Amino acid sequence: MDKADIPKIKYIEGRERTTELVCIPGKAPFIRFIPFSNKKKSEAETTGLTIECGACDFVMHGFSTRLGGVSEGIFSSMNFASNRGDAPENILENFRIMGESLGIPAESMVYAKQTHTINVLHVNEYNKGMGVTRERDFNDIDALVTDTPGVCLVAGFADCIPVFFIDTKRKAIGLAHSGWRGTVNDIIYETVKKMSELFGTDPEDIRAFVGPGICAEHYEVGNDVADEFKNKYPDAEKMGILRKKDNTGIDSGNMSGGASGEKYYLDLTLACRDNLINTGVPEDKVFLSDICTCCNPELLHSHRFTKGQRGGLCGFLMIR
Ligand SMILES: [Zn+2]
Repeated sequence: MDKADIPKIKYIEGRERTTELVCIPGKAPFIRFIPFSNKKKSEAETTGLTIECGACDFVMHGFSTRLGGVSEGIFSSMNFASNRGDAPENILENFRIMGESLGIPAESMVYAKQTHTINVLHVNEYNKGMGVTRERDFNDIDALVTDTPGVCLVAGFADCIPVFFIDTKRKAIGLAHSGWRGTVNDIIYETVKKMSELFGTDPEDIRAFVGPGICAEHYEVGNDVADEFKNKYPDAEKMGILRKKDNTGIDSGNMSGGASGEKYYLDLTLACRDNLINTGVPEDKVFLSDICTCCNPELLHSHRFTKGQRGGLCGFLMIR
């Protein structure tokens, strides 16, 4: 894909640069997370990130964009959402194209079956290809963990928050889908707990990446959702997780407004960050995406931006 065909990226204001778009000629572009990449120290320093370089060298990762696939219309063109009307052969071809870009065969991938649960599945050789090149034998799985090399964890997104975990000491990985329900119910805690039980992971050894997903500016929620967050995070407003919407303008004087009609902006990314820190992941090993799905509708699939008429992105994480 020609670099000239890449839409201009809009970054989240005030966030340090944590992602880069990788464009290899003839391959589909994908997003790489700088804190997970194998850059030389000098390069990492120019990004302003203070990270231990090379610690994640045993892992391959990537996050898809809308570019470089074979799907059409609302799915155009790199789509991995399988239940929204796109042809299964298109999705399989997209997995093959993406796999070639990342250097990961589609047969090595295991695709989560996400239903906003907090269920975590341990996958290994046995699961390879499930949800991608062959049927799954599992359902209702919103996070995957493994310590098996060559098994690629895959999960789908279009605004919800992906959370990537790398235990740099035990050499184990996890990938979770944290929408608002998964965040309130703390799939992050569940994922780390599973890694601890299975692989002996100490949360202190985890490097985590949160996003790309929807930014607070684009994520307006009602009282019902806001209340759930207030329950889990008593200081939600002070922490910036919730920000009350200014109820001025056309809403004022509306009889159906008032307390029950209050709106909030929800920062899922900050909530996930808090979950990670409370789970024991060191603050300086938690990295937040600098791009939002809804801010970049030409580059990324966004549920909110398209009012649900959309395809899906995928995150990929594998031990070499
Ligand atoms: Zn946004």
